[in-house]
Amino acid sequence: MEGEHHAPTAIDSDTLRAYLADALPAEELARVEKALRDSSELRDRLEAVRQNREDAGLHTLGAIWRRSRLTCPSRQQLGTLLLDALDPDLAEYLLFHIEVVECPYCQANLADLKGKAEAATPAAKSRHARILNSSRHLLREDGKS
Ligand SMILES: [Zn+2]
Repeated sequence: MEGEHHAPTAIDSDTLRAYLADALPAEELARVEKALRDSSELRDRLEAVRQNREDAGLHTLGAIWRRSRLTCPSRQQLGTLLLDALDPDLAEYLLFHIEVVECPYCQANLADLKGKAEAATPAAKSRHARILNSSRHLLREDGKS
């Protein structure tokens, strides 16, 4: 008798291999990621599969990211994502993590970062405008007299 009952969503080794090789359709990928977040047993199985299968398909940036970080991107990475300055492969994965996997932590973090960015922009603009105006004024005075 094998203990097959502790995996609530039957994710087999083939699925895990496809996951590591970046070869799952989006819905399946989301299901696996959600399951991985919830199950340390499944994370152990993923690690076991990974160690048995070091082939070329596992070396895309997305795949490397997936197997090194099953948790969440850093705030800095989320900030870089907002600036649209992230490696496209990584950005795609982060968007997937946030929008499809719907990671609540990253959604909150990203909303917070967006709020800060939006709050900062008008102030920065008006400060910039003020500086421009005052220097224009100074330049005009200097120029005329
Ligand atoms: Zn996250």
